[in-house]
Amino acid sequence: MRATVFAMTPFRQRKGPMLACCLLLLLVFGCIDYFTGYEMGFFVFYALPVGLAAWHLGRGPGILIALASSLTWWCADRLAGQRYSSNFMLGWNSAVHFSSFIINAITIAKIKASLDQRHQLKKDLAQTQRELERTAALLALCPACHKPHEPAALQRKTAAYLNGQPAAPGDDARCESCRANGSPASLPASSHGQP
Ligand SMILES: [Zn+2]
Repeated sequence: MRATVFAMTPFRQRKGPMLACCLLLLLVFGCIDYFTGYEMGFFVFYALPVGLAAWHLGRGPGILIALASSLTWWCADRLAGQRYSSNFMLGWNSAVHFSSFIINAITIAKIKASLDQRHQLKKDLAQTQRELERTAALLALCPACHKPHEPAALQRKTAAYLNGQPAAPGDDARCESCRANGSPASLPASSHGQP
């Protein structure tokens, strides 16, 4: 049961396991970076946990993993024997790495947020369109032939709408004969406000 609930939970809501996964990945990359030595550049691989955290968890956790990535890179290189000619060079390199990770995290989180927003707008638009079509089906006249609907059919559709019941299959604003003929169901464009 617990496993089923876990599987059905959206990925973004499983923050703890995802954060742990990013930290574990960071630890693995840190170890590889240490064992391969400071001469072999391993910087680009740290972007993976940063990107994963920013994409799945958002900007805050992305920045947190960016900070952890910088620290891991710094520790791995220092332990591997990397030495700088001055503290300024050490600070400069650390700042460049950290800035790069932060920019990655913020950019990826922003792209994900925009995609999520676009997806939500698309869903809202589809829902509004369905509502409009449902409401248009309650018009007294058929929009295709302009003939009044059968009172019984109109009453049935209105009652279903007011009771919150789903529309019958094929129900729209057209009358029976227009539906059978395949006449367009869309409403004519309004001329109000036109010159
Ligand atoms: Zn009609």
